[in-house]
Amino acid sequence: MTFSSSIAELDRASVLHPFTNLKDFANGTLGDPTIIETAQGVKIKDSTGREYIDGFGGLYCVNVGYGRTEVADAITRQANKLAYYHSYAAHTTEELARLSSRLVKMAPGNMSKVFYGLSGSDANETQAKLVWYYNNLLGRPRKKKIISRERGYHGCTVVSGSMTGMSFYHDHMDLPLPGILHTGVPHHYWGAVPDETEEAFSLRRAQELETLILAEDPDTVAAFIAEPVLGTGGITPPPKGYWPAIQAVLRKYDILLIADEVICGFGRIGTPFGCDMYGIVPDLVTVAKGLTSAYFPLSASIVSEKIYAVMEDGAERVGAFSHGYTYSGHPIGAATANAVLDIVERENLVEKAASTGAYLQARMHERFAHLPIVGEVRGVGMLAAIEFVADRDKKLRFDPAMKVGARISKAARDRQLIARAMPHGDILGFAPPLIMTESEVDEMMEITAAAIKQVTDELVRDGLRF
Ligand SMILES: *Cc1c(COP(=O)(O)O)cnc(C)c1O
Repeated sequence: MTFSSSIAELDRASVLHPFTNLKDFANGTLGDPTIIETAQGVKIKDSTGREYIDGFGGLYCVNVGYGRTEVADAITRQANKLAYYHSYAAHTTEELARLSSRLVKMAPGNMSKVFYGLSGSDANETQAKLVWYYNNLLGRPRKKKIISRERGYHGCTVVSGSMTGMSFYHDHMDLPLPGILHTGVPHHYWGAVPDETEEAFSLRRAQELETLILAEDPDTVAAFIAEPVLGTGGITPPPKGYWPAIQAVLRKYDILLIADEVICGFGRIGTPFGCDMYGIVPDLVTVAKGLTSAYFPLSASIVSEKIYAVMEDGAERVGAFSHGYTYSGHPIGAATANAVLDIVERENLVEKAASTGAYLQARMHERFAHLPIVGEVRGVGMLAAIEFVADRDKKLRFDPAMKVGARISKAARDRQLIARAMPHGDILGFAPPLIMTESEVDEMMEITAAAIKQVTDELVRDGLRF
């Protein structure tokens, strides 16, 4: 038995894989698990020695690229010096204090304090508790509902999974919880009525939000959570005028805004945060993924002065802030984040994401926007997507059973490029490390073109006409 086959066997016998069809995996239809062994720059390598361009940066998280020894050294240094101590009851470490000061300064809005978790999901769970705590301290026990958007993605835990606006994250899991509501997705391509401008469509979405708030009673609605650019729901930048219109509604009814910056934060779209791109002024900011470029699990819920002041004030009456994890503010996580943010600053990765991102978007439009199988090419910075349709003129989707998006993703993978088949619709997503060069972008586009051509040819052979 080879090394790889024995590892595959152990895996199949004992790992419960996320987002995997368990039957197909168990009976071998999905083949053996891919064993990823090493990675460097924008490339990962599997146990057979096959290399892939990672066009998705893991899961939109490896922003500084793989194999950064400087980050590994920071982890080793901290592990040797102090592998762990908690941050309860006013304990801290040098790395944690430095990181927090840095995040408060960098973050959009008027931020005050940082609470740490280990994942984007748990950070959004914390945001919900902060929103409820804040309104309880203000003596507004009815103001508790949280509105998110259809196709929003905020995680998979109980509250964050409820905020997520895709039914397959809820089905058979008893979600969403009551009190977590969803409003329309700002996707002009699918949502606009004929001849509706982006601005008019944005205003309509804002009016729908207002209608929902009024129907629920504004005194019961506490917060709105959204990604500046929709990620897992299809990589969809907001239409023109969307964020100003939405924020006007939130201000009118005294509703807090939670910016879920888990993907956009730290340069992904070419500005430090997504909020900076769209003029969003948040009350709470969630970060994870890019914070450590996935070298260590770490997330943060960044709290504004407005909310923190109420919490500090309330302590006299309610006592200690009773929320925290064993690993909140883990010193190795903090050291990792500091080392990653040093790289982001020193290598100007935000500016680099803006310029390489502009190059990526331009190449994608040139090469793919006119293809008969392509409905929309979209994105911003180093976040991009191609959505495939059966009929461009009539805007008809493919039958989901044809799995067109997944087949194109597979065809790209067969050519050594990872581009993600997004879970909602026939969408191929790109979110490469921000260090990717223009020539690597070209390579990625070549492979994508070949993959699209292969599947288009297959569909034509099967009798489809474009
Ligand atoms: C990935 C993601 C999350 C959840 O983060 P996990 O670390 O997977 O729990 C939350 N919000 C957004 C926008 C994300 O992309």
